Amino acid sequence: MRSSRTGGTLRSCRPPDDDRGQVPFPCCVEPFPGVRRGPCGPRSSHRLAERLRSQRLRPAAASLLTDPSGSPSSRAILWGGDRARSAHDSRAVPAARPRGGRLDRRLLVEGRRLPGPVAGLPGDVRAGLPAQPPEQPEPFSTVLADLERVVLPGVTHWQHPGFFGYFPANTSGPSVLGDLVSAGLGVQGMSWVTSPAATELEQHVMDWFADLLGLPASFRSTAAGGGVVQDSSSGANLVALLAALHRTSTGATVRHGVEPDRATVYVSAETHSSMEKAARIAGLGSESVRMVEVDGDLAMRPAALAARLERDVARGYTPVLVCATVGTTSTTAIDPLAELGPICQKYGVWLHVDAAYAGVSGIVPELRELQAGVEWADSYTTDAHKWLLTGFDASLFWVADRAALTGALSILPEYLRNAATDAGAVVDLRDWQIPLGRRFRALKLWFVLRWYGAEGLRAHIRSHVAMAQQLAAWAEADERFDVVAPTRSPSSACARAGPERWTPTSRP
Ligand SMILES: *Cc1c(COP(=O)(O)O)cnc(C)c1O
Repeated sequence: MRSSRTGGTLRSCRPPDDDRGQVPFPCCVEPFPGVRRGPCGPRSSHRLAERLRSQRLRPAAASLLTDPSGSPSSRAILWGGDRARSAHDSRAVPAARPRGGRLDRRLLVEGRRLPGPVAGLPGDVRAGLPAQPPEQPEPFSTVLADLERVVLPGVTHWQHPGFFGYFPANTSGPSVLGDLVSAGLGVQGMSWVTSPAATELEQHVMDWFADLLGLPASFRSTAAGGGVVQDSSSGANLVALLAALHRTSTGATVRHGVEPDRATVYVSAETHSSMEKAARIAGLGSESVRMVEVDGDLAMRPAALAARLERDVARGYTPVLVCATVGTTSTTAIDPLAELGPICQKYGVWLHVDAAYAGVSGIVPELRELQAGVEWADSYTTDAHKWLLTGFDASLFWVADRAALTGALSILPEYLRNAATDAGAVVDLRDWQIPLGRRFRALKLWFVLRWYGAEGLRAHIRSHVAMAQQLAAWAEADERFDVVAPTRSPSSACARAGPERWTPTSRP
């Protein structure tokens, strides 16, 4: 935990006399004062690359604007995600303070410790480790010394405010502490009886999040559905498919397995690869996966879905699941749930919404229209570990009808039987996931929610959106950048910097 993370903006969400400022790092992110909220437009007088150069932005920051993975490339995705955290770091880099340019200042990172992939050759880390496992106990100080010597040089600093690779994967102080408490308690929450608090806190927190994100009433544990924390959205996509197979086959898959020659799954070319992986794991195989065409915004075309469903049904296939995405991985495109929903209902096909990255934006009421039509969903996943200040892993997954999920996954051997389960009085979350065992992940979600409050989380999302819009406006107004994909999701800007037009300085 680096001292540069000691946020100074906590007071924007908490009373000044609050003692919470003592927690080591981040806190509520303030929306940047003065950052224009409106849609991006060419009116912006800023010229991004010029500003970067004229203000002597360090190469680290300049190159991350060119390629988030850290290597020079002509393609740029300028994410406005967790980089917002560098807002906190403005105090940490006073020497490099540029004149004006709020975003530039926030993008400034310590040039000493570059974000992105670390230099090194494959095998470097293993070469620093002994060939044989330790026979004798060792003092912890030598273990920590080796951590410093062998491990840390081979670590990519995902939590560095200047790390722009992939999706944001931001953790926070309260999340770390939640995981620490979970590790210390060492609870295995597979069944209600193995630790009632693990199950009940999780159910409660998931109901809270369903409310906060504006999800359908059917997803509440008090209705026919319910939420559960999965290890990843990939896992959530798989269990959604298993539940859909169970429902479509009216339970036959549990006894006879799947019918890979009949079952079909519908995605678009922009759908995350984990859905096809789920089809393979479920035994359907990649050929069961139908690729529905996308429109100019890279969103799934409802008419194309309807046509494929009609054709497949006519040819004797059984459509099982449609996976719609809110915030695709390549460009954060958004599939039109409100139009896809009625089509799915007409064909009796399960609608799964993969909102892994962008779903948490629903905590901000004015962003909910991005997910309009979510009430059609049979299941929904969003990652608190991507954009909601919670450390990996914490995928929030809901189903509208929990019976389909538990019908697919529940098995009750003698050694798991207990009075509470037998009486049907409790929920056993092992029946909602692939593994039996489960960590107490609800703790970190609870800590994060308590610490920031819903208002703090909303401020966090809003500030990222404001930054992304500012960045997009600058890129749009600069002839050296081309905006390469229209983005409906407000937190990202996809632009290309032509190498012939602007080449970032190489790293020191
Ligand atoms: C990141 C992502 C996934 C995979 O998420 P994990 O939680 O890492 O498995 C799936 N779908 C989408 C749309 C994503 O952005």
